Amino acid sequence: MHLLRLFTATAAALCLSSACIPADLFDPPPAPPSPPPDVNLPGDRIKTNFGNLIIHPINHATLALGWSSKTIYVDPVGDAARFAGLPAANVILVTDVHADHLSAETLTALAIPNHTLIIAPQAVYDALPPALQAVTRVLANDATTNVEDLIIEARPMYNTTPERVNFHTKGRGNGYLLTTGDRRVYIAGDTEDIPEMRALRGIDVAFLPMNLPYTMTVQQAADAVREFKPTIVYPYHFRDSDLAEFSRWVGTDAGVEVRLREWY
Ligand SMILES: [Zn+2]
Repeated sequence: MHLLRLFTATAAALCLSSACIPADLFDPPPAPPSPPPDVNLPGDRIKTNFGNLIIHPINHATLALGWSSKTIYVDPVGDAARFAGLPAANVILVTDVHADHLSAETLTALAIPNHTLIIAPQAVYDALPPALQAVTRVLANDATTNVEDLIIEARPMYNTTPERVNFHTKGRGNGYLLTTGDRRVYIAGDTEDIPEMRALRGIDVAFLPMNLPYTMTVQQAADAVREFKPTIVYPYHFRDSDLAEFSRWVGTDAGVEVRLREWY
């Protein structure tokens, strides 16, 4: 009898474990939200917690990104054939006023009413016709805005070498830092290896220019990369620069993957 009581007490104690609690008290943890569908854009795919980031080089400084169900164009210039078959842009980032970055004609062709937001520095805004100004949000260096879950920060971009400073004066143009979830993409714009670039950390994908006389040498770009250590770097805006030399200078010991793609 004594043993039976002990057994009963033990069984009751065990009933505090999950085996004796009705199953409906144990709701399964909510399923993680499924990632948003990818936009229909060809290119490199990089897995993120907001779906794939898609990298689609177009030409020189012009590229398209797909991320978190959004299509983002950067510095779209040239005729519409370059963009034929690509999804319409939700966001267009313009870095600067020069013709390899800004074309009001291309923007007019690509900006869809009630669908496309242009983000640009003041100098670009001032150069746009009123119809484009109406769909443009001005962002100064270091200012931040967002389009739903896409956070967009304007970064400084400028020359520092005395004979090049007139090409890009500090404050006129914007590089951009894009963040969605835990991933960050840096689009440097036309710049040299400025301290604001070298101080960046936690960059997953970086686009860096390297051409003379307008931006920087491959050695400058590689030296900056070795300091801020993006996980992946795409040289862009490089014309006939020696990308093999850039890759050599970056080396393999810094943990940075150099991705060379067709930009011309
Ligand atoms: Zn340029």
